[in-house]
Amino acid sequence: AKLDGRGTFRFFEPAMDARMQARRRLELDMRQALARREFQLHYQPQLNLADERLVGCEALIRWRHPERGLVSPLDFIPLAEEIGLIVPIGEWVIRQACRDAASWPRPLSVAVNVSPAQFKSDRLVETIVSALSHAGLPASRLEIEITEGVLLQDNEKTLHTLHRLRALGVRVSMDDFGTGYSSLSYLRAFPFDKIKIDRSFVSDMEDKADGEAIIRAIAGLGRSLGMTTVAEGVETAEQLRRIRAEGCTDVQGYLISKPLPPDDLLRLLAAGSPF
Ligand code: C2E
Ligand code: CA
Ligand code: CA
Ligand code: CA
Repeated sequence: AKLDGRGTFRFFEPAMDARMQARRRLELDMRQALARREFQLHYQPQLNLADERLVGCEALIRWRHPERGLVSPLDFIPLAEEIGLIVPIGEWVIRQACRDAASWPRPLSVAVNVSPAQFKSDRLVETIVSALSHAGLPASRLEIEITEGVLLQDNEKTLHTLHRLRALGVRVSMDDFGTGYSSLSYLRAFPFDKIKIDRSFVSDMEDKADGEAIIRAIAGLGRSLGMTTVAEGVETAEQLRRIRAEGCTDVQGYLISKPLPPDDLLRLLAAGSPF
């Protein structure tokens, strides 16, 4: 037990104390990471199945921590979200992704993940307008990916923001489709351009008949609604074969390519690539 500033005793489990210290440390490091240029974007290609050409890339953030090495976004995005740091980090992501995409030798689209707190921040539309214009990137080449978490809160305002983005020409994808509770009602509430079928359905496909039936149903839904359907996390040729048979329009996954540093992506896009 220790005496805190207000003169009351507080009891900590030693393990919890250690966890909180680690978290505090990560938070302090993260506050410096932008200024120290420790973030990077990697790009994972998305392939259209009809013509076997790349149509776009998803930007995925990486944190090269001076002591810890590469930190996964799964280990810092949730904390960044909690403490509001996601807003400046997310702005950096949007600006960098637009700059990078403007330098690609082909007009592929670039997809950026926007998390709920960033979406709520009021600055999102202004940031996107400014990033596009600074980079000289047409709005039609930018896509934002949102999850159900964005749609859960303040629906009016969210829809207004989505419509403003749409009016600019920015496309909107529903990420991790099928993992939440109300994926279907969100499809009705907003006309997404693209549905990204969660990786869990793809990995279920080979051992559970249900996985394949679900993918078939989502692909059909996408077709009727005029939306692109992307299967995420495609790792094997067998998964690709089935996804194609079920009628998804696009795929993304290690089978096509892992997320690549910008230079490696440029090499892939250079003449002579299989895509
Ligand atoms: P997500 O948006 O669902 O991104 C897809 C994740 O699946 C990425 O993990 C990607 O590397 C991984 N992946 C792609 N293909 C395969 C595959 O074939 N097999 C397997 N096992 N994994 C595959 P990553 O890069 O670790 O990102 C994790 C999550 O962190 C993302 O999930 C997204 O929610 C979040 N995230 C990443 N970058 C950003 C960002 O810039 N902003 C925000 N707000 N969130 C981000
Ligand atoms: Ca995503
Ligand atoms: Ca996803
Ligand atoms: Ca995810």
